[in-house]
Amino acid sequence: MKTEDLKVLFSEDQLQKRIKELADEMNSFYNGEEVIAICVLKGAVMFATDLVKHLNMPLKMEFIRLSSYGTGFNTSGKVNAVDISLPDLNGKNVLIIEDIVDTGLTAKFLMDFMHTNFHTKTTKFCSLLDKKISRRTEIEPDYFGFEIDDKFVVGYGLDYEGYMRNLRFIGYKE
Ligand code: 5GP
Repeated sequence: MKTEDLKVLFSEDQLQKRIKELADEMNSFYNGEEVIAICVLKGAVMFATDLVKHLNMPLKMEFIRLSSYGTGFNTSGKVNAVDISLPDLNGKNVLIIEDIVDTGLTAKFLMDFMHTNFHTKTTKFCSLLDKKISRRTEIEPDYFGFEIDDKFVVGYGLDYEGYMRNLRFIGYKE
């Protein structure tokens, strides 16, 4: 897959405009209460860093690393916790930030992990993209940027074999 062959699905302007809207919604919901934002590496790195810049409550950032995709376009169908060390989140407002919900297995794994390990005040799941059509679990994100069809997308944190995370837009190959 080459960058020059990609079609733009969401431009940099579209992404930034939608991220600001999501942040406005969150600012209203949290109403100044402290939030622990958990960025799911590596894919959510761009989204999480842009989103938190618009959040106006006291906020801490944590980073966890999971992997579910094997190689290329194919999901492995299981979630691997590569590094999930977190501080005590009991009583906290936890906001999980993901790049994309596809089958929903990762989101379910994370929500189950939170509920098993902590009594948070709130746990919200936010994903930039939502591929609802591919869902294999009941899970729905509390916040999402855009719903997309069942296509493999890259850019703005999302990779193809490790590459293309640095693109400012989200694209796909027809
Ligand atoms: P799920 O567990 O919901 O099936 O998949 C979530 C993870 O799969 C995402 O965090 C992301 O890393 C990867 N993924 C799912 N769909 C895509 C896609 O279209 N493009 C890329 N690059 N990764 C994807």
